Amino acid sequence: MAQLYPSYLNLLQSGELARRAEIAWNMLASCTICPQNCKVNRLAGKKAVCKSADELIVGSWNVHRREEPPISGSRGAGTIFFGHCQARCTYCQNFWLSQNGQGRVITHEKLAQIMLLLQKRQVHNIDLVTPTHYVPHILKALVIAAENGLRLPLVYNCAGYENMETLRLLDGVVDIYLPDAKYANDKEALRTSKMPNYTAANRQTLREMLRQVGPLQVDEDGIGVRGLLIRHLVMPNGIAGTREVLRWIADELGPNTPTSVMDQYFPAWKAHNDPTLNRRLTWKEYAEALADWEASGLTDGYPQEDLMELDVSNDI
Ligand code: SF4
Repeated sequence: MAQLYPSYLNLLQSGELARRAEIAWNMLASCTICPQNCKVNRLAGKKAVCKSADELIVGSWNVHRREEPPISGSRGAGTIFFGHCQARCTYCQNFWLSQNGQGRVITHEKLAQIMLLLQKRQVHNIDLVTPTHYVPHILKALVIAAENGLRLPLVYNCAGYENMETLRLLDGVVDIYLPDAKYANDKEALRTSKMPNYTAANRQTLREMLRQVGPLQVDEDGIGVRGLLIRHLVMPNGIAGTREVLRWIADELGPNTPTSVMDQYFPAWKAHNDPTLNRRLTWKEYAEALADWEASGLTDGYPQEDLMELDVSNDI
């Protein structure tokens, strides 16, 4: 039988999408949706690391034109920002949303409507930002949206810190994975993001995503249709372990794994109080990161060269 696109249409037709939504929803009774493994009963209103029970909070949704070119394309990505987060990045640029949970409580039906409204605006995809702790809600909404005409691929835009059981529920549902590879060092991941065992979990996550969808493929207009695109945010003082992160991707996932090397770190939220995090990158730091990218053997990527925004004050 011919395969439909986006992939979730195949699972919708067979009833598998609704079945996966139920499995994910039941996981909330002793939540292991992500590697934090809190095991609280979110269905009974209990909250743990992600401060989320069974309610769904959306902070905002809009047409986003500043993701990577294959994601934003010419018409923009249909971005939906969720409230709260599984991590506690002390430098989070969206902390009012990820940490304070600002936004509105909405139903699955409303989330489905938002997806359909974004489709009406002719975006290239539905870009789910910080989706992990809401996977059950997203699957339920997707069933409704797909039944009502959603035909855009999903972009799963996450911290790269996923539970394998949850990720397998997304196999055949998500066409484009856009995960972070944040750290090569568990000590820093725990200190600055409160994510235990990040490195192993992240590597397992990236391997599974690559197994599901392969490296990012684009259409004739350069728009991403399916695959994995990894993001790495370069941080001051070598905190992210850029060289090791990029080498691991090239060696273990393959040099053709698209990787975006991001320069836009700035000290937000609590980072001002941390002497290792309280400044932007220097020119030298980002130039070194680009040299690490070259040396790693990676061939496909999106280095950002907007060096005007970097901190040159303590560099030359
Ligand atoms: S989604 Fe993750 S952080 Fe949130 S309660 Fe479940 S296991 Fe904990």
